[in-house]
Amino acid sequence: CSIMRNVWKYSIAGQVIFGPDTLTELPSCLKKLKVNKPFIVTDKNIGGSRIGLRIKEVLAGFDYVFWDNGIPEPTTGTAIAAAAVLKEQGCDATIGLGGGSSIDVAKAAAILATFGGNPADYFDENKVPGRTIPIIAIPTTAGTGSEVTPVSVLEDEEMGLKGGITDNNIRPWVAIVDPLLTLSMPPRVTAETGIDALGHAVESYIAVSSKYLPPDKDYIFGGSTELTEVLAEKAIGLIAGNLRLAVFQGQNEEARYNMSLASLIAGMAFGNSGLGLVHAFSFPLAKRTHASHGCLIGLMLPYVVDFNLTACMPKLKRIAELFGESVAGLSAIEAAGRGVAAIKKLQEDIGIATRLREIGIKEEELPAIAAETIKIERLVRGNPRRVTEADLIEILKAAF
Ligand code: NAD
Repeated sequence: CSIMRNVWKYSIAGQVIFGPDTLTELPSCLKKLKVNKPFIVTDKNIGGSRIGLRIKEVLAGFDYVFWDNGIPEPTTGTAIAAAAVLKEQGCDATIGLGGGSSIDVAKAAAILATFGGNPADYFDENKVPGRTIPIIAIPTTAGTGSEVTPVSVLEDEEMGLKGGITDNNIRPWVAIVDPLLTLSMPPRVTAETGIDALGHAVESYIAVSSKYLPPDKDYIFGGSTELTEVLAEKAIGLIAGNLRLAVFQGQNEEARYNMSLASLIAGMAFGNSGLGLVHAFSFPLAKRTHASHGCLIGLMLPYVVDFNLTACMPKLKRIAELFGESVAGLSAIEAAGRGVAAIKKLQEDIGIATRLREIGIKEEELPAIAAETIKIERLVRGNPRRVTEADLIEILKAAF
């Protein structure tokens, strides 16, 4: 493949405002966007917490609707319910305040309020006809990167399977990333969301290169590029140095700051390169378990990276270095193995489930999970090593 055929595009949220107490920027953002009545999407947990109180203080004098019926791992029904209230109340923008779950509902509600229909009409890529009403994202976890990505993940209530709406039209207009909002995350939420960010950074880093995807396809997830690689490396280094501290010393402001930054940067990387098998596996696994998205990503990550080892040894060596491992004098394969081991050690140290059987998966379910995974083409195509259904079963067996 000639380098002179390597063409890529890069997109992000309209504006990113990062830093402690940047929540106070929200009123001026709304004024600049000429928003009269925003619709705030959150859940009861956040809505009733100091974060809920704080946003109400910040928005004093504004007309807004505060909808706190969001749920973790939301469904198409959650988005439909949100959009109905949004329209009934005459709101003209959405604000996702919470983890990826609330931000994704804010994105889907904006689509439904602008174009009508059902969320499933927009599943897969490039199905949103144009710009929606403004979307503002304010993450309170450090994991999904949804504040800059073109994705809304919802469980399809009819199919029982998660689906993704992927479209550049739903990248938030503004992302306000205020690390102070993450200080209240309990250790388990910190661990599971933090390892999700690592999953984004690693899968983006090792994703198939843009050089090897057809240039004529208008992919949103166009493979890894020189730019996404730089971003992914930065995010991996930040997570390697800060996730344990954020989990075990939740009030450590530097660790929280760095994890918010890492999650944002990982979103900036994977929201262009795309992801791979870890995320493909997570959808059929989510259908069968009540495990959180981050738990599933963290569980599968070392097994998938190990499977990919032969296809990306220099990058796994670099990951080992970013984790502070010494690779001097090691063969290429040994050095790459150190990268896999460093990811596995982090998974174990922060208490992520390490085996599929621990989360209730039965051995006889593995072939069906593999059959459903291989069909998720937008994620499978990004994996650096070509895979067959039989390969997927072997990875699942290793993780079982
Ligand atoms: P979440 O939004 O589901 O939140 C998990 C729990 O943590 C909730 O109970 C929530 O109330 C609580 N919580 C959130 N912030 C808190 C805080 N500061 N203090 C205390 N509790 C807090 O978790 P998530 O991992 O951020 O989002 C998961 C969802 O995002 C899944 O549906 C997943 O599929 C999706 N996702 C989307 C993208 C994307 O690009 N759109 C990427 C990855 C994952």
